Amino acid sequence: MEKKEQLYEGKAKKVFATENPDYVIVSYKDDATAFNGLKKGTIAGKGVINNKMSNLLMQMLEKKGIKTHFVEEIDDRNTVVKKVEIVPLEVIIRNVAAGSFSKRYGVPEGTLFMSPTIEFSYKNDDLGDPLINDYHALALKLATVEEIETIKKMAFTVNEEMKSFFKEHLNVDLIDFKLEFGRFKGEIVLADEISPDTCRFWEAGSWDTTKHVSLDKDRFRRDLGGVEDAYQEIFKRLKGE
Ligand code: UDP
Repeated sequence: MEKKEQLYEGKAKKVFATENPDYVIVSYKDDATAFNGLKKGTIAGKGVINNKMSNLLMQMLEKKGIKTHFVEEIDDRNTVVKKVEIVPLEVIIRNVAAGSFSKRYGVPEGTLFMSPTIEFSYKNDDLGDPLINDYHALALKLATVEEIETIKKMAFTVNEEMKSFFKEHLNVDLIDFKLEFGRFKGEIVLADEISPDTCRFWEAGSWDTTKHVSLDKDRFRRDLGGVEDAYQEIFKRLKGE
């Protein structure tokens, strides 16, 4: 499938039309941003890793019965996906306190939850992606009651599948992650990406100490060094090397 005109350029990806109106091509860049675009940089090789990692995880999830946007990987940085209408919600699932949760609620990073949490942010850069609840999402007509129910169920299933997958195969604890969903032919499908840009991965067992080892974008956000190495390491483990 060939790239036609560019439809969109985001912070980390470009989207191109194809000859098929149902499909687009997503092209992953090495550009990295954090704090709503305030911090900018490049992570060499990130685009390749995020593309391949997201595709492997989407295929794993499809096998577990989760509908996704994934169609076909073209090459290192380019993938054909279903052309969805993105539901303007960032869906965040957490297993362990970290990042904005720890800050907002005054809970130390590394506090294990009794059960996973879900939260929604309204995807709107101008407003800084504000935290909202289901009723806000309905009032703002971002999604229907049925869609919100489906999204919640899918997000928790993705969490269970990903948590055990990462622990068993990569020796990594899945701390939290962000998902986005889209509408495709009347159905909700998992869209966007699942990568070290959108998940917190901590070296197994390191989260209950004050010195957890991050294998994700926190190395960039927090200037911890070894950013490229962390992306390479998690990808190497994913490939089973
Ligand atoms: N996240 C993301 N995009 C965002 C905000 C968060 O992918 O715009 C991911 C982030 O990588 C982490 C999880 O969602 O895995 C929870 O992030 P948090 O709310 O703690 O925000 P942060 O501390 O990153 O600002």
